[in-house]
Amino acid sequence: MESNKQKAIAYSHEHLQEFINSLIEFLKIKTISSDPQYKDEVRKGAEWLSAYMKNLGVQNVRILDTEQNPVVYGSLMQAGEDKPTILIYGHYDVQPVDPLDEWDNAPFDPVIKDGLLYARGSSDMKGQAMVSLAAIKSIMAFDILPVNLKFLFEGDEEVGSPSIVAFLTKYKDLFKSDFVLNLDAGMIAKDKPTIVYGLRGLAYFEITVTGPAYDLHSGMFGGVVYNPIHALSNMIAGMKNSDGQIQLPGFYDDVLPLEKKEREALNALDNPDQYYMDQTGAKAVFGEKGFTNVERIGARPSLDANGIWGGYTGEGPKTVIPAKAHAKLSMRLVPNQTPEKVKQQLIQYLEDHAPKEVSWEVKQLASDPACITEMDYYATRCFANSLEEVMGKKPVFKREGGSIPISTHFQSILGCDSVLSGFSLPGDRVHSPNERFTLELFEKGIEVVIDYFYRLAQECGE
Ligand SMILES: [Zn+2]
Repeated sequence: MESNKQKAIAYSHEHLQEFINSLIEFLKIKTISSDPQYKDEVRKGAEWLSAYMKNLGVQNVRILDTEQNPVVYGSLMQAGEDKPTILIYGHYDVQPVDPLDEWDNAPFDPVIKDGLLYARGSSDMKGQAMVSLAAIKSIMAFDILPVNLKFLFEGDEEVGSPSIVAFLTKYKDLFKSDFVLNLDAGMIAKDKPTIVYGLRGLAYFEITVTGPAYDLHSGMFGGVVYNPIHALSNMIAGMKNSDGQIQLPGFYDDVLPLEKKEREALNALDNPDQYYMDQTGAKAVFGEKGFTNVERIGARPSLDANGIWGGYTGEGPKTVIPAKAHAKLSMRLVPNQTPEKVKQQLIQYLEDHAPKEVSWEVKQLASDPACITEMDYYATRCFANSLEEVMGKKPVFKREGGSIPISTHFQSILGCDSVLSGFSLPGDRVHSPNERFTLELFEKGIEVVIDYFYRLAQECGE
C-alpha cells in the first residue's frame, strides 16, 4: 500500500505545472523593497502570498505590519504537541532589476526556456518559498501535516531587514518554534546538495585620524608635522603580518578551533588556489597561513580595509598636508567572537600603535555576531538525509563566508537554530540580469521538503 508520503510525492509531480503557474503569478508582482516607488507592489506581494497560503489551508494567516514592509504570518499546528514546530522563513521581496537592457526578457514577465524559469526573484527567493508551499499543498491533499509549522515571510530581506529585530522581539511568542527552515541558500553545484551550518559575522568600523588643525602647505610645514595619511596607513598596514595573521591583541583568543572531523568535511569542497584566481582575477591567493582556502573563508576570521581617503585627490598637484585621514575597516567574525570584544581589541591596537602626534576616533557601523549550528543537530541531520534520499547524493556541509543576520536574530531572540539550505545554483544570476531557477530542482526541492516533514515526524525525535 502506498504511504501518504508516497502519495504526496506523486501528487507533487502530477501537479508540478500548477505550482509553476502559481509561482509565475507570484513572480509578476514587482516586490522591489529598496525602491519606495514599489511600496504598493511589495504590499501586493504580501497579499498574494497570504491569499495563496489561506487557499492551501494554512491557518491564522495574517499580514503583520512592521516599521518597513509587512511580514506574512500563518500556522499549521495540527500534528500534535509531541511533534516539532518548524518556522518556515522566507522573503517575498526582490532586488532591483537594473541594468534593464541586459535582460533578455522583461524581469517581471516570467519566461521558461530549456527547463529554466527566468524572472527577478525566481531563485532569490520566490521560487524557493514556493518549494515549501507546494510541498505542504501536496501533503495536505491526503493527510494532515506530520509536523507543526509556522510561517514568517518578510518583505525587507534585500534591504537588510532593518526592522526585523524590533518585530521579532514584539512577536516573540507568536513565532516561538523549535527551529527555523530557511531555504534562502543554495547548492554549490547541480549534483551537490548543500547545507550551510555556519555563517560569519561582521564588525564594521570607520577610523578617523586627525593631525594638524587644518590642511597645511607642505612647503611651509612639511617635515615638522606627522601626516595623518601616513599615520593611518602605518596603523592599517600593521594590522596583518606577512603570514596573513591579524595582529589585534587577543583577536584569535575566542575563535572556535576547527575540529579534525569538521576540517575533513569542509575540505571535501576542495577549492584550489586556481579556482579563486579565476573567480577574482587576482595574481595569487593570500590568506592566513596554515589554513586552506575553504577554511579561511568559512571558519577563520578576516580583516579588510574597505576604503581609505584623505587629503587632495583631484586632478593635478596640490601640496597639502591634510588635517584628517579616514578609512573603513571590516572584520568577518567566526564563532565565538563578538563584535563588541573585537571593537575593544581594535581600540587597544590603536592605542598601542597610533603615533602620539595624531589623535584618532573609531565609529562602529555594523555589528553582527557569527552563527553556527551543530552539524549533527537532529533537524540538520534529518534534512541531510532527505537531500540524500531524493538527490541520491550526500550533501556537502558548508560554512558561508558572508553573514545572514536573520539566522543570528532567530538564535538570539527566539532561541532557534536554523537549517539553511536551498535549491538555487551559483549560475542562477541572483541579483543580476536574467535571474533564473532550474525547474528540475524546483521539483526535486518539493520532494525533499515532503520527505523531510515525514522524516522529522518519524525518525528524528529529540
Ligand atoms: Zn534571498
